[in-house]
Amino acid sequence: MQLENSLEDLLACSNDLLCILDVPSSRLSLRGAWRKVLGYDPSELEGKSIDGLIFPDDAAAFHELRLRSAQGQTCHETVVRCVARDCSMRWISWKASRSSDGRRVYLAGRDVTELRAWQERLEQSLQELRQRNEALGDALRTAREATKLKSEFVANTSHEIRTPMNAVVGLTELLLTTPLSAEQREYADMLRDSAKSLLSILNDLLEFSRLEARSANFERDRFELRDTVSAVIHLMYPRALASKLTLSCFVSPEIPDFVVGDSRRLRQVLLNLVSNAIKFTDTGKVVANVSVQSQSADRITLRFEVEDTGMGIAVENQERIFEPFIQAEGSATRRHGGTGLGLAISRQIVQSVGGSIGVVSQLYKGSTFWFTMPFEVPESKRREPVPEPEPEGTSFPALRILVVEDNLVNQHLTKRLLEKEGCKVEIASSGRVAVEVTAEHQFDIILMDVQMPDMDGLTATVEIRRREGGRTRTPILALTANAMDGDRERCLAAGMDDYLSKPVSRESLRRGLRRWASRPRSAAADLARRD
Ligand code: ADP
Repeated sequence: MQLENSLEDLLACSNDLLCILDVPSSRLSLRGAWRKVLGYDPSELEGKSIDGLIFPDDAAAFHELRLRSAQGQTCHETVVRCVARDCSMRWISWKASRSSDGRRVYLAGRDVTELRAWQERLEQSLQELRQRNEALGDALRTAREATKLKSEFVANTSHEIRTPMNAVVGLTELLLTTPLSAEQREYADMLRDSAKSLLSILNDLLEFSRLEARSANFERDRFELRDTVSAVIHLMYPRALASKLTLSCFVSPEIPDFVVGDSRRLRQVLLNLVSNAIKFTDTGKVVANVSVQSQSADRITLRFEVEDTGMGIAVENQERIFEPFIQAEGSATRRHGGTGLGLAISRQIVQSVGGSIGVVSQLYKGSTFWFTMPFEVPESKRREPVPEPEPEGTSFPALRILVVEDNLVNQHLTKRLLEKEGCKVEIASSGRVAVEVTAEHQFDIILMDVQMPDMDGLTATVEIRRREGGRTRTPILALTANAMDGDRERCLAAGMDDYLSKPVSRESLRRGLRRWASRPRSAAADLARRD
């Protein structure tokens, strides 16, 4: 069979095995890469059948291909093994089609031996990977089970030790109330301090183990975020003051008053970070910031940051310190003690509720610890527009307020909060001073601490009411940290009008003032008489 010269040249360039079968005469013409792929010169095979080259096991598949293409079904592809001249085996992928007049069948075969080998290797690697994955899965399950068992063991042990330790602390407290020699008192004091620190280590261990074993419970309560944050700041204030540090806190006005989540855990993490910041800062300030990270119709993610001007943390330790029992090397860590569990617990808590935690720090310059925590927005608050922050100093113009408070920090705080509302504030440092001051000056509202040395708030209230003799009645609002059942009743029974629990937030103070500022003092007296 004679082809055009250029076509012949083109076919000679092909990397495939090319074959034209003349159906009436059954003659074969071969072109292409026969020599390169199978080692045969096409002239050796010319006129013969290529069936002899097909590996016997694959003969049926090749026969089927030829049959179908002779019947006019074009371009079938079949991969079969062919035997080369040197008796090696090559995988050839054959395609076949028929000429339009049905007189010829065209076959083109491509050597896919390398490809097959790669495919097989890939398949084998995949298989191995699958097996390894399964083994890893098993190992992970075993490790998790072991961690759970270990954590449960630690939790149970800590719990068992905690019970007698509580007794040791309690009994030492009792012992300290009995007559003791100076030496005995010194020992008992040391015993109480050591027992307390052991108890706090045990509590940390217990907490960490519970969190690690994922057996810790998370609450879902509706709470005032600003109250929770300010409670932490109030609690830490004396420590900051003792270290001559400025402690302040900013909560973005976009944040709703109420959110739903675990307030106790939030408090725990915040307390941890603020207490660390104070612990590791010698001079300067500690600032807590709360802002909105992201918000949808029913959820809000808040970002809490605690910034200090302390000793900072070297880059290589910034990840490690979140691991349990890891403390960055340094004299301050040794000086302050600690278990190295605070940050590990904080991380467990934050991650358990779907948030994240981290630190940005520069050695000797300070650190900013941050964490994010998602909360639900209570139903009633959802589609409310974000309130414009009220400008300071305009809410309660010229209200004269007497703050009766013995604690210097609280005096300062409450005075500042009230002054921000535009009030004029006088301070009385005890119940007795309050009784004297009210005898000479009139006030629109009295904020009265309950526990004070000299004269407590309840006695002072009784005395003020006696002096007023029912002719007037200055609203007296209890401002107290006592949160036990019955405290409210005791305050009201002594003649107080309302009750604000400490630490008081700006919002609850405002609400209290708003409730009482608008009532004329005689109306308050009527109200009290009716009650
Ligand atoms: P602890 O305070 O009991 O040592 P933590 O887990 O709370 O345990 O902290 C781990 C370590 O991280 C601390 O020992 C300290 O080295 C480092 N660290 C934590 N907070 C600060 C901070 N604000 N400034 C500098 N270092 C800090």
